[in-house]
Amino acid sequence: MTFPLPPGSTIGVLGGGQLGRMLALAAARLGFDTVILTPETNACASCVAAQTIVADYADPEALEALAGLADVVTYEFENVPAAAVEGLTALGAETAPGRRALAVAQDRVEEKTFLNACGAPTVGFAAVDSLADILAGLDRLGAPALLKTRREGYDGKGQTWVESHADAEAAYERIGRAPAILEARADFVRELSVIAARGRDGDVATYPLGENHHENGVLRRTSAPAEVSDATNQAAQTIAARILTTLDYVGVIGVELFELADGRLLVNEIAPRVHNTGHWTLDGCEVDQFEQHIRAIAGWPLGPVTPLAHVEMDNLLGGEADSWPALMGETRARVWFYGKGEARPGRKMGHVNRLRPLKG
Ligand code: AMP
Repeated sequence: MTFPLPPGSTIGVLGGGQLGRMLALAAARLGFDTVILTPETNACASCVAAQTIVADYADPEALEALAGLADVVTYEFENVPAAAVEGLTALGAETAPGRRALAVAQDRVEEKTFLNACGAPTVGFAAVDSLADILAGLDRLGAPALLKTRREGYDGKGQTWVESHADAEAAYERIGRAPAILEARADFVRELSVIAARGRDGDVATYPLGENHHENGVLRRTSAPAEVSDATNQAAQTIAARILTTLDYVGVIGVELFELADGRLLVNEIAPRVHNTGHWTLDGCEVDQFEQHIRAIAGWPLGPVTPLAHVEMDNLLGGEADSWPALMGETRARVWFYGKGEARPGRKMGHVNRLRPLKG
């Protein structure tokens, strides 16, 4: 495959959720077609894509069809089965970001080991394969500490606090005695995130930081650009650039950060994809994270990440989406709906970006 891909080329996306939908919308605007591979019928990305292949991610026939149609294949979630990526690579398909980024992001122990090795600081941690590992970890890291499954945890799922040595066995049960990581408690004052992109030419662009508020492990709100010192901004940019360069990454990445009272930043986790805390860029920046990702994987130059407005992004969860008539009446609100049918409690149905002028 030769890059840059001309308009008229086809982008493959593994996953059919809202991130895939917004990637497909951005791709269409640049003249690309999108083909979605998802096990779901009527996935919300399919409504806005040229084609959908409905099959399991590792289905060999589906992967062959996708590899035949797409000039480059990307992902909208990080827990893509390794077999799917290996299958695509064996078929000669170009995938971005690469396998290393996925492998690192799929395993919390690998992730933290990688981050520390490339100079991106994290909380102290211990790999857990037994109750004895938890007890030894508590000795070293202190209690309470957070026990998280190594794989497949998201939105606060698969994690539990270990309050003390006496609680260790029950905590291990609570996560199903799965392979895990024990993390020291981060005494953070704020949760921040940085969305960054790296192009095929190695160019890196970093959006202004967002300040994030979670409820029950799920993102409620991002305020951006966050009010941070120049030093914090610089530190976040350095961290993002190190991660991207070390992974030889192509595309957009989300880096979740803890800000400590002394101003230091620790990386909580990385998401090798467009990220919910970057939705504010859709209305707040010259080029948003979705277009940026498509530009990067297509081998186009990265676009400017300059903020145009201050944005408060609120996720619309479950029945909150029913407030659309009132939202549509707000002149400063830009509303995004994901076209999902059933508004189950807590389900991400859309988001609203409320804009105000940047401080002069
Ligand atoms: P995660 O699934 O790793 O993104 O964690 C979900 C949320 O749990 C984070 O957004 C934090 O609010 C909290 N959290 C995660 N790790 C830690 C930690 N080591 N110390 C304190 N809070 C944490």
